[in-house]
Amino acid sequence: MERRPFVCRNCGASCPVIVTLEGEQVIRVEGDYAAPLYRGYTCPKGRAIPQEHHNPRRLLHSLKRLPDGTHVPISSEALVEEIAVRLRRIIDARGPAAVAGFIGTPIAAQPASRVMLLSFMAAIGSRMIFSPMTIDQPGLVIAEALHGMWQGGRMHPVQWDTLLWPHGDTIDMGRSLLHLTRMADHQPGPHPVFGWEVPDVVDVVEALKAKGVAMIVYDGMGQDALGVWSSPDGETKLAWFPDPDGNVLSISSHAGRAAH
Ligand code: SF4
Repeated sequence: MERRPFVCRNCGASCPVIVTLEGEQVIRVEGDYAAPLYRGYTCPKGRAIPQEHHNPRRLLHSLKRLPDGTHVPISSEALVEEIAVRLRRIIDARGPAAVAGFIGTPIAAQPASRVMLLSFMAAIGSRMIFSPMTIDQPGLVIAEALHGMWQGGRMHPVQWDTLLWPHGDTIDMGRSLLHLTRMADHQPGPHPVFGWEVPDVVDVVEALKAKGVAMIVYDGMGQDALGVWSSPDGETKLAWFPDPDGNVLSISSHAGRAAH
């Protein structure tokens, strides 16, 4: 197996990722913690690339829908010809503004597509160009247009916490920020509310025990004398302990997977 750095092209966020390959099989896609701006961030869509890439139903060629709703393969050349005829008919009947372009996820991720679409729209004389900003978040661009932009660089979210997180705390954990909210009527429940992935659960359990923290032992879980549960293949280890308010916290380690 080999691990290669890459950029997720599933949307315009362009998250840096590490791709694990076995021959031509994509085994795993995970965030690249070495990328300082992203700090290992990926979304579920990016992490699902292996399933998407090898999905037997993945569309690899253009299809044309027939009047009865079925689809047949069509070559790119024939497809462009047919679309051109239809667009010509629409523009002749209703004018260029009857044709709109949308710069969304698939286009944003392919740098040449955006330029091609904008050139095409200019060529036919339509200014009806839309994006997720015009539909989902017009306030952002309108506010920028009205007030200008702050050129001093982005503020670190820790600096906002008195504004955005008035009822809690923000803890800078190095690669991520942890926001905690104080809830006056919160009752601790039996399930973990927070967990950490650590290099070795046993080491951390021993360190916690040395500080007087008792692990939680559940009936029937088969935890060992330290309170550590192991998966049947021994690759995953878990332990649970309470915080001073009685909330359940967990630590886990997974063999072959670097903890962060
Ligand atoms: S799809 Fe998800 S992981 Fe990929 S670039 Fe977009 S936000 Fe990042």
